[in-house]
Amino acid sequence: MRIFIVEDEPDILRAIEYNLRKEGFETESANDGNIAMEKIIARPPDLAILDIMLPGLDGITLCKALRASKKTSTIPIIMLTARTLEIDKVTGLESGADDYITKPFSIMELIARIRAILRRTRVNSDSDEKLKSEDLELDIEKVTVKVKNKNIKLTAIEFIILKELLKNKNKVLSRESILEKIWKTEDSSNIETRTVDVHIMNLRKKLGKAAEHLETVKNFGYSWRENV
Ligand code: CA
Repeated sequence: MRIFIVEDEPDILRAIEYNLRKEGFETESANDGNIAMEKIIARPPDLAILDIMLPGLDGITLCKALRASKKTSTIPIIMLTARTLEIDKVTGLESGADDYITKPFSIMELIARIRAILRRTRVNSDSDEKLKSEDLELDIEKVTVKVKNKNIKLTAIEFIILKELLKNKNKVLSRESILEKIWKTEDSSNIETRTVDVHIMNLRKKLGKAAEHLETVKNFGYSWRENV
């Protein structure tokens, strides 16, 4: 497993790299957004950690660019956001990141998040079934989503949310229960439910017309409505 870290503060970068290597990950890094972009495209890693404030391209722009490029569109991305800047968290997720972690953070927490994301993105043992809804088809084993036979690129978290919604058609899933599905064994109590809304918003954009089944249940959660 190779993890790419983009961080311009040498102490933080050194600490992350040291600890990830100790945990058995390979690491590669850059301290500038433009250089990071070149290196990541040249050799896509298994996961990328992006700081937001960077020389060259900032982390948000970099994240969007990676999502837009075919070679890198599904790489799991964790954003490092500045403390207390709520806006950073939201824009981080809107730009397509799978998760964010607020500075200052503990390396152990970062490693736990990395492991959680990698566990989710690896082919899961659920079953080989396909979930369908009209023109939409989600293949659990292949981790693909198609609308009218056209591949839709989702992030790891968007995929899990859609899978849960389709598995539970016409039931209402609370935002908390969706968070639990995303984080499985991790303690999700300190993750804000607002992040679910942002992932759902991104999911809607990507699904286009197929998302008309995705209903918001105000102040509670979401449901995939379909006449049976
Ligand atoms: Ca920085």
